[in-house]
Amino acid sequence: MKKILIIDEIQASRLALKNSFGSDYIVIEAENGMEALQKVETDNPDIIILDMERYENDGPEICKLLKVNNKSKYKRLIQLYNVVQEKEIVNGLHAGADDYMTKPVNVNELLVRVETHLRTKDYYVELDKKDLLILLELTELISVTRNPKKILEIIVEKIIEAIDVSRCSIININDQGEMVVLASTDLEPGQEIKLDLKNYPEIEAALITQRAVVVQDIKNNPIMAPVKDKIKGLSDKAIFIVPIIKKNNVIGTFFMRASSPLKGGITERIFKLCQVVANLSGNALENAVLFESMQTSRNLLEELSLRDSLTKLYNHQYYHTRFEEEFSRAQRYKQDLSCVFIDIDEFKSVNDRFGHITGDIVLGQIGRLIKQVLRKSDMAARYGGEEFAVLLPNTGSEGAHEFAGRLLSLVRELEIPQLKGEHITISIGISTYSTGNVGTYEELLRGADVAMYQAKELGKDRICHATIRDQPNLFKEGA
Ligand code: GH3
Ligand code: MG
Ligand code: MG
Repeated sequence: MKKILIIDEIQASRLALKNSFGSDYIVIEAENGMEALQKVETDNPDIIILDMERYENDGPEICKLLKVNNKSKYKRLIQLYNVVQEKEIVNGLHAGADDYMTKPVNVNELLVRVETHLRTKDYYVELDKKDLLILLELTELISVTRNPKKILEIIVEKIIEAIDVSRCSIININDQGEMVVLASTDLEPGQEIKLDLKNYPEIEAALITQRAVVVQDIKNNPIMAPVKDKIKGLSDKAIFIVPIIKKNNVIGTFFMRASSPLKGGITERIFKLCQVVANLSGNALENAVLFESMQTSRNLLEELSLRDSLTKLYNHQYYHTRFEEEFSRAQRYKQDLSCVFIDIDEFKSVNDRFGHITGDIVLGQIGRLIKQVLRKSDMAARYGGEEFAVLLPNTGSEGAHEFAGRLLSLVRELEIPQLKGEHITISIGISTYSTGNVGTYEELLRGADVAMYQAKELGKDRICHATIRDQPNLFKEGA
């Protein structure tokens, strides 16, 4: 089991931290620097957590002592601060700390950091002052940015600034093994693309080994052999991949490409920096994915509540909302807009003779035929029990008549086994907005409704057009 040493004067604080580690770790405590050094000798901890505020000026001294001690010099040291003070933190990091956190400590975050430190301790090299500042800036940006996707975008921008690569992406790998580029210097903000793992053997290598992969010369490196032909035209010379790991799973990777061979190769400095940034990015990446799936399910829920469950067409309320919008658009751009009302003929008798379930099947089939004749910009709703309403933007009465005619014939020809050879018919009413003939969408709606009843009165299975305003109660009949 891994051992953690907590250095804090106050017993209650030590205990609080200790409890957050649960039973996965052995936690050792020390009150001061001297006791800490003794514990290092006797217990050989893997990670040391030091509360800097408790020791004020002595804090950096304790760090240094721990770091010159042969037993603890390669251990990871995490410092805790009350507030983020850039100067103090840089001093602390220079005194040998590997990481810092501000209080109150978020237990989950601490556990994640401990885990990543345990995993990456083999790569340990000192960071340059310049890189410490980059990291600080990045940590601060991350802490003030709420949108996790935006955080990923900030991270890729910073990477490009900090190291000698021309392009950088953060790729998420989901449970199905699909790879999605969530942020990239090549993408517009918010854009996303899917990658096929087959085309990226270098990423696959990083996934399998859970380690960084460096390809200095992509045209000649054996790792790239399976895609040799595909990469012929690429201007990239070198690729550098750093996996983003959480709880021992690779949840994503950094994918960096350089158009010239990296000067001096991937130095330890770049390696270490990217490793630390990858550790930093784990949470942001996980949050971005979670955020995304929440958005998707919210959109799905909203969409569901707008639709009728039997026909999956929009419902009455949504029809009104869209109608109002389309009506003002038609007014503004002086376009035609047609409203079509559809009612099934003798539907009561279908229910009475064949049962409600068969009635529902008929409704579903008519819904399907309506969808079949719609264009992309059109919108259809189940308006009531066996009534449907369709909105045809930018469509005059002739276009609407054509739509209605096709639907009328399709319904006449519809074969439904449960109806034992009987056929269904519908009656259709159409009203059209054109050159300001009506002032509100409600008038147009009423027109289509009236026209539909006229079609019923004339014997059903037909189309009637409303003639609005000049002869409000009249109608034209069509085939
Ligand atoms: P008309 O030709 O004049 O339109 O006659 P109709 O029988 O179709 O007209 P009416 O509006 O009187 O009857 C509609 C029937 O539709 C009444 C109701 O039982 C049935 N209905 C409404 N909603 C549903 C539904 O969701 N499922 C089923 N199976 N029937 C429904
Ligand atoms: Mg009806
Ligand atoms: Mg009816």
